[in-house]
Amino acid sequence: MRARTMEGREIELKPDAFDGLRLRLRGPMFLPGDVGYEESRTVWNAMIDRKPAVVARCLGIADVIACVKFARENDILLCIKGGGHNIAGLAIADGALMLDMSLMRGVWVDAKRKVAHAQAGCLLGDVDRETQVHGLAAILGFVSLTGIAGLTLGGGFGYLTRRWGWTSDNVVGMDVVTADARLVRANSDENTDLFWGLLGGGGNFGVVTGIDYMLYPVGPEVVGGVVAWPASEAHKVLELYRTLADKAPPELTLIALMRPAPPAPWLPKEMHGKPIVALLACYSGRPEEGEKAVASIKAFGKPIGDVLVRRPYAQLQSLLDATQPKGRRYYWKSEYLPRIEPALCEKVIEHAARIRSPHSAVILFQIEGALNQLGDEHSPVGNRDARYVLNAAGSWEQPGEDRANVEWARDAWNDMKSFSTGGTYINFLTEDEGPERIEAALGRGLARLAEVKAKWDPQNVFRTNRNIKPA
Ligand SMILES: Cc1cc2nc3c(=O)[nH]c(=O)nc-3n(C[C@H](O)[C@H](O)[C@H](O)COP(=O)(O)OP(=O)(O)OC[C@H]3O[C@@H](n4cnc5c(N)ncnc54)[C@H](O)[C@@H]3O)c2cc1C
Repeated sequence: MRARTMEGREIELKPDAFDGLRLRLRGPMFLPGDVGYEESRTVWNAMIDRKPAVVARCLGIADVIACVKFARENDILLCIKGGGHNIAGLAIADGALMLDMSLMRGVWVDAKRKVAHAQAGCLLGDVDRETQVHGLAAILGFVSLTGIAGLTLGGGFGYLTRRWGWTSDNVVGMDVVTADARLVRANSDENTDLFWGLLGGGGNFGVVTGIDYMLYPVGPEVVGGVVAWPASEAHKVLELYRTLADKAPPELTLIALMRPAPPAPWLPKEMHGKPIVALLACYSGRPEEGEKAVASIKAFGKPIGDVLVRRPYAQLQSLLDATQPKGRRYYWKSEYLPRIEPALCEKVIEHAARIRSPHSAVILFQIEGALNQLGDEHSPVGNRDARYVLNAAGSWEQPGEDRANVEWARDAWNDMKSFSTGGTYINFLTEDEGPERIEAALGRGLARLAEVKAKWDPQNVFRTNRNIKPA
C-alpha cells in the first residue's frame, strides 16, 4: 500500500498499516477498493482525480483527534474534506490520510442569542434549513451544496453579505483540533490569534470541528429569483444593472450574468442553448418593499423568462444548485472589482459571446456594503475595497474539451483583470494558481498569518491548502 509522508515523499506501507487507526475510530474507515472510498475521494470538480491512502469518515471530535494523532505518529500526510467544493480540489491529496467530515452535519440554533453552532461537515443548506425554522439566517453563499467549512475559512459571501459582511465577519467562535491534537476554542476571548487567522486564512491552523455563526432575522419569505433576456439586449441590461446596483439599498443584492440559456422549464424551449443575459436578485428585507425594489427589473424590455418572485429564503438559497452539479469539469478565473465600468460591461459581452460550452458563464456578483466598513486588519480575508466579484466560470463535460474551455476563461480574465482592485478571492483560485495569486488574495495579512502558523502549526501538519509557511 502506498502513502505519502508529510513532506510528500512516497512510502510503501504494510497492508495492515491502518488497522491501528481503525480501532481508534467511531466512524467508518475506507481503503482503496472499499465501498465508500470512491464516493469520499471524489469532489465537485471532475478535473481533480487524486487518491488518498486512507479515508476516515469522522463521527465526532474524538475521531478527528485520533486521525491527527495517527498522522503525526506515523508521519502520514493529512488532508481534510468539508463539502468537497473547492475548485482546486484542496480537500484531497494523493497518498494522504483524509479526514472526511461529511458525517458531522449537526446544527443547533440558540434563537434567543441568535447564534447557530454548526458541525464542520455541514453544507450551507443544512444551516439554512435549521436557522429558517426560527426565521433566522447565517451569512452564507449562493449554492446550498457548498461546504460551510471551506467557505467560511476563506471568507465567504452571498445574498446577505451587503448587509452583514463576509461570512467570516459573522463567526463568533470555532472549535479546533490543533496540530498537537488538542481541542481548543477560538473566539474573541480565547486563543484570539488563532481566531483571527481562521477568519479567512484558510484551514491552515487545525481541523475546525464546529463553527458558531451570528444569525439575523431573514425570511421565511423574501423576494428573489432571476429575470432573463436574449443576449442581444445585453448592453441595455448591463447598463440597468450598473445603475440599479449603484443605488441599491443593502437589503438588495444584484448579480448579472451572461451564458447560454440552460434547459430550465421557466425559459422557452427555443431559447435553450442560446446566449442570454440575466439578473439575479435577492431582497432580504420585507417582501412588500422587495417587490418595489425589483419592479424596474421585471418591467424592463421583454424578458424571455421571469422567476423573480416572493419565495422562501431557503428555496432561493438552492435556486442555482442545478446549474453547478458535482462531476462536471470546472475552471474559473476571478477578480475583485471596485466598481462596474461601462467598458467592463463591453468586455463581459465580448467574452460571453466566445463561451465554448453550454454551461459556462461570465458573472458579476455585488458584495459592496458592510464588508467595506471594517479595516483590513480586522481579519485576513481583507479585501475591504472589494465591491463586486467578477468570475469567468468555465464548466463543461468532456476531458477532450479541457483546453478550449480553460483557454476561454484565461483569455477573458487576461482581458478584464485591469478592472480589478488587484485582489482576488482565495476560495475561487484554481489548481494552477500559485503564490502570487495567494498574495493577491491575502497579501496584507500574510506576514501575520505566518506568525500564527509558527505558533499553532510550526511543523506545517496542515499543508494541503493555500499553504502559509510558518514564520
Ligand atoms: C458551486 C459552487 C458555488 C460556490 N458559491 C460560493 C459562494 O456563493 N460564496 C462563496 O464565498 N464561495 C462560494 N464557492 C467557493 C467555496 O467557498 C469554496 O469552494 C470552498 O472551498 C468550499 O468549501 P468546502 O468545504 O465545500 O470545500 P472542500 O473542498 O471540502 O475544502 C476546501 C478547503 O478547506 C479545508 N477544510 C475543509 N473543511 C475543513 C475543516 N473542517 N477544518 C479545516 N480545514 C477544512 C480543506 O482542507 C481545503 O483546504 C462556491 C464553490 C462552488 C463549487
